[in-house]
Order: sequence, then C-alpha cells, then structure tokens
Amino acid sequence: MDQTREIIYKEIMEFPENKNLVEYVSKFIKLSKEGTRYIGRCPFCNKENRLTVFEDSNTFCCYFCYKRDTINDFRNLLLELFEFNSSDLKYDWEERAVRRRSRERIIEKLSKNEE
Ligand SMILES: [Zn+2]
Repeated sequence: MDQTREIIYKEIMEFPENKNLVEYVSKFIKLSKEGTRYIGRCPFCNKENRLTVFEDSNTFCCYFCYKRDTINDFRNLLLELFEFNSSDLKYDWEERAVRRRSRERIIEKLSKNEE
C-alpha cells in the first residue's frame, strides 16, 4: 500500500468513539445541517445533496442510488469505493469515471481535514 492508501484505509477503519455517523461521514464528505438531518454529495453515485444522514437514528440513505443503513454499511461501501475489498472492473467505464471522481473528492476532503 502506498502512503495515501494507508491513510485512507486508517480513516475508513477508524470510527468515532460513540460511532456517531454524522461525525464519521463528515470526515469524508462536507455535510450541511437541515433540521435533524444532514445533507451532502453521495460518495457512491456522486450526486449532490442526495445523501442524507439522520442524526436521530444514526443511519443514512441516498435518494438517488439508494445505498443506505448503518455506519458499518457506510464503511463497507467506502472500502469498496477505494477497492480495498473489491475491484472497479465490475463497473462499466462511465461508472468507473464517477467512482474515480468521488475518490478524488474524498482524498481532497481528507487532506483539508489535516489543515
Ligand atoms: Zn448515491
């Protein structure tokens, strides 16, 4: 693993102490608060404002690609996005381009967190 991948893997595997999903997702994606929900760009389909994180139930749902559920599900999807437990080869070239852009955004966000 190169250094960037090592950092990404560490960030993905590291849950906040209380397993707070808003806190966890915020490491990777910029979320904005709307009432008791948080909205942001979905990292899995890259659609703006489709990802919703529910603070009260500690769950998420994307209203475009319908990826959803718990902090464990979110983590597993991130591991898949970064090809830690699968490969992008099963996707067509268009989906692969979307996933690549999404990875770039997350890496950019992680580097901003350091500042
Ligand atoms: Zn989505």
